[in-house]
Amino acid sequence: MAVKQKEKKPLHLAKMKIKKGDTVLIITGKDRGKQGTVSRAMPQDDKVIVEGLNIVKKHVRPQGQTRQGGVIEKAMPIHVSNTMLICTECGQPTRVAHDRRPMGSDQKLRPVRVCKKCHKVIEDRMRSS
Ligand SMILES: [Zn+2]
Repeated sequence: MAVKQKEKKPLHLAKMKIKKGDTVLIITGKDRGKQGTVSRAMPQDDKVIVEGLNIVKKHVRPQGQTRQGGVIEKAMPIHVSNTMLICTECGQPTRVAHDRRPMGSDQKLRPVRVCKKCHKVIEDRMRSS
């Protein structure tokens, strides 16, 4: 089956508010109301893959002796507009504002994501570990 390739955004314009390691709430579709951790962010497509959600079952035919047949489960990408970020501070699904705050050991102003509900900095789990 041929899949039409969508035109991708140039990398410097591809910025998403949701990053790998974030917890998101799914707001549409069959997984609506469920939460999961972003295992992959795809900023050029505005999509994320959320662990264990938006699972599609694929039937695979055996191919010779190298591949067994059967059903495999695969997490499909979800458009970011169908998700909401869960704030690491207040635990609420929220929208994100951008700000600059003194961060790190040198307290330099760095761009951060801020929760629009509690106005605290949303932790970037991939960066701060
Ligand atoms: Zn918050």
